[in-house]
Amino acid sequence: MADATKIEWTDATVNFWWGCTKVGPGCDHCYAETQSNRFTPGHWGVGAPRRKIASAGKLLNRLDNDYAWWAADAQIGKLHPNLRRRVFVQSMSDLFDLEVPLEWFAEAWGKIVQCDRLDIQIVTKRISAVEKRLAAIGVNTWPKHAGLMITVVNQAEFDRDVPRLRSLKRRMSLPWIGLSAEPLLGPIVGDFSDLDWIIVGGESGRGARPMHPDWARSIRDQCAAAGTAFFFKQHGDWIAFYDRDIDDPDWRRCPRVDDQMGRGAERYHNLAGGTGFHGERVLAMRNVGKAKAGRLLDGVEHNAMPRAA
Ligand code: SF4
Repeated sequence: MADATKIEWTDATVNFWWGCTKVGPGCDHCYAETQSNRFTPGHWGVGAPRRKIASAGKLLNRLDNDYAWWAADAQIGKLHPNLRRRVFVQSMSDLFDLEVPLEWFAEAWGKIVQCDRLDIQIVTKRISAVEKRLAAIGVNTWPKHAGLMITVVNQAEFDRDVPRLRSLKRRMSLPWIGLSAEPLLGPIVGDFSDLDWIIVGGESGRGARPMHPDWARSIRDQCAAAGTAFFFKQHGDWIAFYDRDIDDPDWRRCPRVDDQMGRGAERYHNLAGGTGFHGERVLAMRNVGKAKAGRLLDGVEHNAMPRAA
C-alpha cells in the first residue's frame, strides 16, 4: 500500500490487500506477484491467504482530505480548476477476487464510496463477478466518482468481456468505462464507440512477451475514430529494429536472430503474433528493456484520460 506510484496513468495507488489467483494469459507474469514475493511470499493462488493492509482506509481518506487542502489553495485552484486526483485502487490484487473475505471487500467498497473528492480507478479481470460481489454486501448502485476498466489482452477476451462491461454500464450507470490492454498479446479490433478510455502497454519484466507495434497503432487509430481517450503506457521490453516491408522489401537483408526471450534476445514477430520469417508485417524485435523501449508511439506520447466525473 503506497500513494507514490510509477504507474504513468494514475496519481496514486491504494491497496486494501495483496494477493490474487491467476485467471488468464495476462496474469502469466503478474508484476504484483513478483513484487509481493520479495516481501511476503504465499499470497497467490487458489486457497492462498491474501495479505490485508490495515492502513489502506486511512490512506484513502488522507488522499481525499488532501484534495480539500489543494482545492482551498487559491493558486492551485486557479491553475487547476478541475483538479481531481486519480487513485488506482488495488494495483496489487483484484477488487472482485471472490476468495477475499467479504468483510474486507465491504470495508474497501465503503471507503471507495466515501472518498468522493477523488477519481477512483478500478481495474478488474473479473467483470462477471462485479455484481455478484456487490449484491453479497447489499449494494446495487455505483458511485459517480469511480470508473471501471477491464483488462483485455487479446481479441478473445475483448469479445467475451466487453459486452459484459457494456451491460453493467447500462444497468448500474457507471460514469466511465474502459480497457486496460496490458500486456497486449494480440491484435484487437472492435466497436470502441461507448468506451471512454483505453490504456495500451507491452509487457515488461521477467519472461516479457513482445507486443507488435501495429497492434498498438490499430487501437490508437480506432480510438481516434471513436473519440475514445487513448493512453500509450509503454512498448514493454521489446522494440522493433527491422521492418521487412520498409527495410527489406525484396527479403535479401533479413537479420539473423537467436529466437530467445531474455534481455538482449532477438526474434521475428508478425501481425498475428507468430514468430519466424513469415506472415504479415514481419518485424525483427530486440529485448532492450522497458526504459530504452520507451513510451513513444511513432514519435508521439499519448496521455489522454477520460474526463473527470
Ligand atoms: S488479476 Fe491482476 S493481480 Fe491478479 S494475478 Fe492477474 S495480473 Fe495479478
